[in-house]
Amino acid sequence: MTTQAPTNGDRPSVTVLGLGQMGTALATALLAADYRTTVWNRTAGKADELVGHGAVRAETVTDAVLASPLVVVCLLDYDGVHEILDPSTDALAGRALVNLTTGTPDEARAMAAWADKRGAQYLDGAMMAVPQTVATPDGFFLYSGSKDAFDTHRRTLDALAGSHYLGADPAVAELWDIALLGAGYAALTGFLHSLALLDTAGVTPSQFVPLATRWLHGMTAFMSDLAQEIESGDYTAGVSPVGMNRIAVGNLVRTSRLQGIDTEPHAALRALLDRRVADGHSADSFSSLFELLRKQP
Ligand code: NDP
Repeated sequence: MTTQAPTNGDRPSVTVLGLGQMGTALATALLAADYRTTVWNRTAGKADELVGHGAVRAETVTDAVLASPLVVVCLLDYDGVHEILDPSTDALAGRALVNLTTGTPDEARAMAAWADKRGAQYLDGAMMAVPQTVATPDGFFLYSGSKDAFDTHRRTLDALAGSHYLGADPAVAELWDIALLGAGYAALTGFLHSLALLDTAGVTPSQFVPLATRWLHGMTAFMSDLAQEIESGDYTAGVSPVGMNRIAVGNLVRTSRLQGIDTEPHAALRALLDRRVADGHSADSFSSLFELLRKQP
């Protein structure tokens, strides 16, 4: 097994298929790290600026794939990936395909089987980044699938963002991606709801951000306590019981209604707390809501 590294005379090659916002950021990072970077995009003009910075433009997908042992694909969805790669049947054989397109676990597993049939090693990736945080400490990428491909190309992948390998099942990276997105969306929806609430009193979003940031930082510190309670299955020692939270969330929903704003974001939480209390778990920790959310036997 070899780990590829850029060298002055013999620059390793990487291909990037898809030059949307993220693909362009990926190719830019590879050029900055001195990789010979071959690029292809359906709308060819999007490669112009990268070519100006030293990228090699491939005229076809097959030419692009044949140019490098490592092929990174980043399109809008998996259907697009199939659309461009299905016709280049033999080109992928013996190469590593890293798919950074956002999808679902089942799509990732199917794509891995598809790549296997074509003799390619497959690594599914999830980019926990936005274009501006590619190749910065604020971005990180998750991978699952071929460990050999991950090890062989680790240095190249690290040029894109800090890399985390999660296991041989190609579906796992997408599952983590969806889990992290779920937590992020819930937090940001709560943030938007808070802004709507404060808007009724003339508070601007910018005024809210400093204290919201401080508050949410404190809330994230609370996560490891919740995790320990769930792992131990002991919900009796928590400092934030279901009954107390039911009253707090009830206040939140009622105040939202009285202020004339949408109650939807917290109504579902209130319903979960109601169920837990009805089941006789009022004194249990907030973390015990996990028992309602988890897959039931
Ligand atoms: P863009 O909309 O900027 O780019 C989409 C890319 O997909 C373009 O290169 C487009 O080609 C190509 N494409 C779409 N459909 C097809 C098709 N049928 N055949 C060939 N090419 C196709 O998207 P992003 O770069 O923002 O996102 C790419 C992936 O990264 C998505 O899966 C997204 O969820 C994920 N992602 C995006 C983040 C972001 O902040 N933007 C953050 C994290 C993940 P063309 O230029 O010809 O239209």
